[in-house]
Amino acid sequence: MCAIVSVEDIDPAAPVWDRARVAILIGPDLDYFQALKQVRALLSWLGAPQRGLGATCWCGDYVQVPKPNPRVPPQRTARGRKEVRHAG
Ligand SMILES: [Zn+2]
Repeated sequence: MCAIVSVEDIDPAAPVWDRARVAILIGPDLDYFQALKQVRALLSWLGAPQRGLGATCWCGDYVQVPKPNPRVPPQRTARGRKEVRHAG
């Protein structure tokens, strides 16, 4: 199950690991490199070695970090990765 990154209305200085959604929540208005740094730090904390310049899931896949897209309310559009479906 791959981690996703979701921009949420949270403190941009304090990214959050949402275990239920397997999602790293980052605040709005971060630039790409700030976001990437936070995502890498959290993934590393979660036990996923970070290689190269991108963010890497624990399975080795690249984790997509949202590009700056300020002031778009999250959850209005359903673009991007598919949410994990609940079984049953
Ligand atoms: Zn993965």
